[in-house]
Amino acid sequence: MSTADCDVVIIGSGPGGATAAEVLCDAGWSVVVLEKGRNHLIDLDAPHEPLRHFANDELAAHRRHLLGPDPLLEPRTYRRTEADGDRLLVGEVNNLPSTVGGGGVHADAKLPRFREEDFRLRSERGPVEGASVEDWPITYDDLEPHYSAVERLFGVAGDDGANPFAAPRSTPYPLPPGDDMPMAVITAAAAERAGLHPYRAPTGINSIAADGRPACTDCGFCGGYGCPVQAKNDPIAALQRALRSGRCELRPESYATELVLDASGRRATGVRYLDLTEHPEPTTREVRVRHAVVLAGGAFETPRFLLRQGLGGDLVGRFLTFHHQTFTVGIFPEHGFPHGTGGERGRCVTHLHDDLLVDTADLRRAAAAAGLPWVRGGVVEHGAGNMPVEEAVTYGPGRHHLSSMRDSALRRRMWVFTMQGEDLPQAVNRVDLDPSVCDVWGAPSGRVTYAPHRHELVASAYAVPLHEGIMRDAGAEAAFSAASPPQGELDLHATANPLGIAPASRHVMGTTRMGAGPARSVVSPEQRLWDVDNVVVGDSSVFVTSTGYNPTLTLAALAHRAATLLVGSC
Ligand SMILES: Cc1cc2nc3c(=O)[nH]c(=O)nc-3n(C[C@H](O)[C@H](O)[C@H](O)COP(=O)(O)OP(=O)(O)OC[C@H]3O[C@@H](n4cnc5c(N)ncnc54)[C@H](O)[C@@H]3O)c2cc1C
Ligand code: SF4
Repeated sequence: MSTADCDVVIIGSGPGGATAAEVLCDAGWSVVVLEKGRNHLIDLDAPHEPLRHFANDELAAHRRHLLGPDPLLEPRTYRRTEADGDRLLVGEVNNLPSTVGGGGVHADAKLPRFREEDFRLRSERGPVEGASVEDWPITYDDLEPHYSAVERLFGVAGDDGANPFAAPRSTPYPLPPGDDMPMAVITAAAAERAGLHPYRAPTGINSIAADGRPACTDCGFCGGYGCPVQAKNDPIAALQRALRSGRCELRPESYATELVLDASGRRATGVRYLDLTEHPEPTTREVRVRHAVVLAGGAFETPRFLLRQGLGGDLVGRFLTFHHQTFTVGIFPEHGFPHGTGGERGRCVTHLHDDLLVDTADLRRAAAAAGLPWVRGGVVEHGAGNMPVEEAVTYGPGRHHLSSMRDSALRRRMWVFTMQGEDLPQAVNRVDLDPSVCDVWGAPSGRVTYAPHRHELVASAYAVPLHEGIMRDAGAEAAFSAASPPQGELDLHATANPLGIAPASRHVMGTTRMGAGPARSVVSPEQRLWDVDNVVVGDSSVFVTSTGYNPTLTLAALAHRAATLLVGSC
């Protein structure tokens, strides 16, 4: 068994782990990053240029699990409530990529900040029966300098002052906004006519050449794909800086299995991991740490890792939140569609509106009618994706196939509003260990028990007629809506794709909540485990509420803050 000494081991190389690595290396600390997945992102040899393994390849990205995880090798399980029995399905449950760079490689990188109210939801709006709405132990002002720092690190392109609801900023966006998707300009104008306030999405993608990498070419294969020109910044820029410091060692295919604790059990002295590069049997290795371990495996894998050792207390895994997504789809006439493209060109999403996160008399009325004190929707993305293979499969074989593909209702002529609805935390929604399903290396699979609160369904019902009306006003021939996860009686045997019943927002939060004391939280305001002093959580597991905003900029800002505090404390 080999050992390596370093100041900090970071588990996970996604946006959270990469940000922590950059801060710690910049402070002169030595870091080992253990990453379970393979490396397709960055040359491990200096000068650490992008590997450029990616192409506009839907089969590789979506069918062959290029970025992992393969759900046959690393299955998760899902049930809506305990009443469903041990599980309803085994396979893919809201997976994020398992690869160097984590979900940042896949994401189309809308990176909005949260607003002041998001950190004080209980004080500002009050409790909701059946949910655990709490204030965060930190404020927007505590996080603001770290938001600015990670916006610089990820090179966020945005339009200062364009969102009237945005929280105050101490620095402008580092890059100007990128090109608008043509259809977004049309739906943004229709949203304005409906009294809403759309704005250009802040995006962690180079709008101009920056940081040694080119500008985005608007290739259209963005959300769900690695970037062929490496214009996405999240999190390659942070990993490059850490590696170029000479103080960071990144070990792909290294699956952390266990914290090594000292005799008191209150201090981690290292991490054990499986070296998956060893075939056929992975070797167990250990890295010994001087100062600390940062857990940044994402809000599903971080609690799973802790639960295997019974660390972190009884609340580990609880208060799991996803966003409740409401999709409003518009199908537009061919001739009315600019440049013949829906999601075929562009970065998938170029415009957002936040109006349904703001307290209005209308939303209060909708809440009161449903017997709720208040209701919040979420940020609404104006966009569309590009998946021609999926489109072909959807149309199916037959004489109609060629004409359907040419007509392309689901690609060229389709446009979607996706509302990332605020998902209220509930103790019953959780990640725990499945009693009998394991991954290919023999570790218990994580099991999701999750059903939305009534609040989410009320917000979704409010959004549907509003957004369908905007779609029609923008010129859609037809507009319809759906939500994820679907609700109601689901006959698994009758469903063509039983995996379709599981949530699929790709936003995962809340499973090691931060708080002022151990009775109601898993980590301190500094994101340290209450029961193991030198273990810090550096991902969205620590979120107290989900808010209705995309989580990645905030989890990276939190990782930046936690790593900065760690350096200051030693
Ligand atoms: C298609 C898509 C689009 C998205 N779009 C957006 C968006 O526009 N905006 C936004 O904010 N978010 C978006 N997201 C979500 C975003 O990707 C996640 O919020 C973000 O990646 C989470 O970062 P993280 O560092 O916490 O975890 P992850 O990105 O999940 O990284 C964790 C890493 O840790 C590794 N790991 C886990 N356990 C272990 C272990 N035991 N040992 C070693 N390594 C381990 C994993 O393999 C993984 O690589 C999107 C996601 C997808 C898939
Ligand atoms: S749209 Fe731009 S950022 Fe997205 S994958 Fe294509 S080139 Fe890269």
